[in-house]
Amino acid sequence: MKEKLVMVGNGMAGVRAIEELLKIAPDKYDITVFGSEPYANYNRILLSPVLTGEMALEDIMLNDVDWYKDNGIDLRLNKKIVDIDRRARQVIDEAGEHTPYDRLLMATGSNPFIIPVPGHELEGVIAYRDIADVNYMLDSAKEYKNAVVVGGGLLGLEAANGLKERGMQVTVVHLLDTLMERQLDASSAALLQSSLQDRGLNFLMNAQTESIMGGERVEGVRFADGSEIAADIVVMAVGIRPNIELAKKVGIHCERGIVVNDTMQTYDPRIYAVGECLQHRGETYGLVAPLFEQAKVCANHLAHLGHARYEGSTTSTKLKVTGIDLFSAGDFTGDESTEDIIFQDPTAGVYKKVVLKDNKILGAVLYGDTVDGAWYFDLMRNGTDISDFRESLLFGQTHIGEAGHGATNAAAALPDTAEICGCNGIVKGDIVNAIREKGLFTLDDVRAHTKASSSCGSCTGLVEQILASVVGDYSETPKKKAMCKCTEFTHDEVRKAIITNTLKTIPDIMQSMEWNTANGCASCRPALNYYLVCAWPGEWDDYQSRFINERAHANIQKDGTYSVIPRMWGGMTNPAELRAIADVADKYNIPAVKVTGGQRIDLLGVKKEDLPKVWGDLSRAGFVSGHAYAKGLRTVKTCVGKEWCRFGTQDSTTMGIKLEKMTWGAWAPHKIKLAVSGCPRNCAEATIKDFGVVAVDSGWELHVGGNGGIKVRATDFLCKVETEAEVLEYCAAFLQLYREEAHYLERTAPWIERVGLSRIKEYIVDDEGGRKALAQRFLDSQKHMQDDPWKQRAEGAHKNEFEPLTEIA
Ligand SMILES: Cc1cc2nc3c(=O)[nH]c(=O)nc-3n(C[C@H](O)[C@H](O)[C@H](O)COP(=O)(O)OP(=O)(O)OC[C@H]3O[C@@H](n4cnc5c(N)ncnc54)[C@H](O)[C@@H]3O)c2cc1C
Ligand code: SF4
Ligand code: SF4
Repeated sequence: MKEKLVMVGNGMAGVRAIEELLKIAPDKYDITVFGSEPYANYNRILLSPVLTGEMALEDIMLNDVDWYKDNGIDLRLNKKIVDIDRRARQVIDEAGEHTPYDRLLMATGSNPFIIPVPGHELEGVIAYRDIADVNYMLDSAKEYKNAVVVGGGLLGLEAANGLKERGMQVTVVHLLDTLMERQLDASSAALLQSSLQDRGLNFLMNAQTESIMGGERVEGVRFADGSEIAADIVVMAVGIRPNIELAKKVGIHCERGIVVNDTMQTYDPRIYAVGECLQHRGETYGLVAPLFEQAKVCANHLAHLGHARYEGSTTSTKLKVTGIDLFSAGDFTGDESTEDIIFQDPTAGVYKKVVLKDNKILGAVLYGDTVDGAWYFDLMRNGTDISDFRESLLFGQTHIGEAGHGATNAAAALPDTAEICGCNGIVKGDIVNAIREKGLFTLDDVRAHTKASSSCGSCTGLVEQILASVVGDYSETPKKKAMCKCTEFTHDEVRKAIITNTLKTIPDIMQSMEWNTANGCASCRPALNYYLVCAWPGEWDDYQSRFINERAHANIQKDGTYSVIPRMWGGMTNPAELRAIADVADKYNIPAVKVTGGQRIDLLGVKKEDLPKVWGDLSRAGFVSGHAYAKGLRTVKTCVGKEWCRFGTQDSTTMGIKLEKMTWGAWAPHKIKLAVSGCPRNCAEATIKDFGVVAVDSGWELHVGGNGGIKVRATDFLCKVETEAEVLEYCAAFLQLYREEAHYLERTAPWIERVGLSRIKEYIVDDEGGRKALAQRFLDSQKHMQDDPWKQRAEGAHKNEFEPLTEIA
């Protein structure tokens, strides 16, 4: 005979535990579920979209009544359990009916806290917790005008936004001077408040509610300073308390919540608890992600598998107010032992703060641009040492994508262990596996099979990106992806408009294409600058719109010093050059000198104030910048070739030098690396370069679109040519096509994958006239690009280069 499992509380955590149990032990129990609400299991998190009108009630049902029936569960709705006879192992409902259990699962959730000020019991004073509250607010909005929401936290702001959307005049009353103080620091809270004010919400900060006024129904709210405001409805959203009323009454050990151990067992071994009602290792939780983890562990023990343990959770938060992007996780305030890295662009409404301790992320707050929230959260939870990419941390994951992965799809770059759906604890690998193994094609499929994006929905964008990266573009992903939040236009549309409408400055573009922001953002400004540099060589270059390393003409290192790499054509050098480098190293006490992977000499540890002098000395010795920091041509690696090597079929070094002399200084969407090998043994590793040349007996093989880095990609074979002149022409044409067509921050590898090799061949190999025209455009552009920036700097240009575009503290 089956054992009897009874669950008290038909909410999100409890039903998730039952779902998990049915997966691993479907026949173990006869299950009875008591719920005091009249609804089957619904997604409480999505009450706010129902309030605003973005969703209907039926959209937020997670398990309807049929689901219970289909799984043989006896569902008793509208039935509150008021007592438990632990000795007889029975629960007792309001009608006095007894129901026996072998195991009992307490999932009674929380009660909203109502401040016990005079008048709190008046008609019109409500909390925000369930469907009944939403219905009450919807009815009130039809009849009344003034709403007051007490509490400027997550729930309060969602309620306020919803009531405003329903046409009410809403005032949010908050005890402190910053909103959402548990999730946001003062700067991000100020941005949030101002954008909510722009949407029409009123705020009373530092306001202590003293009483609620009215006869039978609420009429107003009075504050400690004596001021009053009118109110037809007052929503109290000042916090929740674990609902332990029943547990306490029957003597189950409770503190703030029902106390459980790591297996979700209460002090009564027959009784388990999950959800907001419990307290585990001193913590209570009010977000679904930890509750779903608890549900999994609880199911495991109810199934008598007995190996899972719940060890507590780290949580992250997002606000579900459409149009406001906000992410917060971990400790974002820090102390004397921590460091803050802050990026602030008030015009674009972007604020990012990452708190570090010992080069690990302790917490993060993102406002206005939350695309990297999942990445920071992943780094935080894994305790990853970020020193290797500290300088670019705030530019986001795609920016460390120097290593070759595409910049357009953040999700594709995430590791399989990265958590995508925080609510349901679904990692990227789960989603990718489900898509592959079950042949999923739509967002709804992924939701149904993995639960990702089925709770609060904030991860929907990431799930769509993963879907697109696994199955390719699919019907529900809009084909058109805006360049950034400042515009609706895509990269391609912007590039086309620059040429067609002869737009020659960033302000021109922004004005003519009706940018949403006055000055753009950290994503679009460098891209626009590059597109202009490419379209109108010599006519435009706004240094202030470049990334810091390009403005500084050097790579900043982790200790704040700089690395300086002079160009050595084709990797060749001579005693005079080496002597000059040695002199510079001695003169400026440069602590380290290293040969790079690209066959150049790197002077490491140069002090910032010495940079112009170092450049001056190098420049006088005949060196130009190696552009090791640039989205542009880096190096041309060569092998020794025919001149020295007994296998060599062609003079690869001379070919490399010619290529480098032709291409140096060229700005591009991303970095470009070239290499030339003297025979198919390929010692210069030309087949993992953006443009690789491999000599064969009868000429030169040309390869394109390779890269090393995190995700190695071997080149595609483009064609074979016979002469050095052809190598140069094809190279110039290929680079120009890339410069003109790729999106900013897209390396040649993802560009070719996006547009297809056949298109590249069509332009470069099949169409001689087109190729020559492309090559000529490249050479024309180079006339303006080969002014050595080090020489200019040493002569005093851009003295203020180290003053950043936006404040980076
Ligand atoms: C408006 C709103 C927005 C939210 N947004 C987010 C968000 O964005 N992200 C996030 O992670 N979390 C969010 N949350 C919190 C999240 O909804 C809760 O953490 C989660 O629903 C708690 O699940 P639970 O099962 O513990 O409790 P509940 O879902 O509250 O379920 C408990 C159920 O037990 C019933 N019950 C209680 N006592 C008894 C009894 N004696 N007998 C019978 N039934 C009983 C209650 O009526 C209730 O239906 C939000 C909550 C609200 C209200
Ligand atoms: S993400 Fe997925 S992630 Fe996020 S909080 Fe929700 S449904 Fe939740
Ligand atoms: S690639 Fe060929 S030519 Fe060049 S060094 Fe290697 S073996 Fe010699």
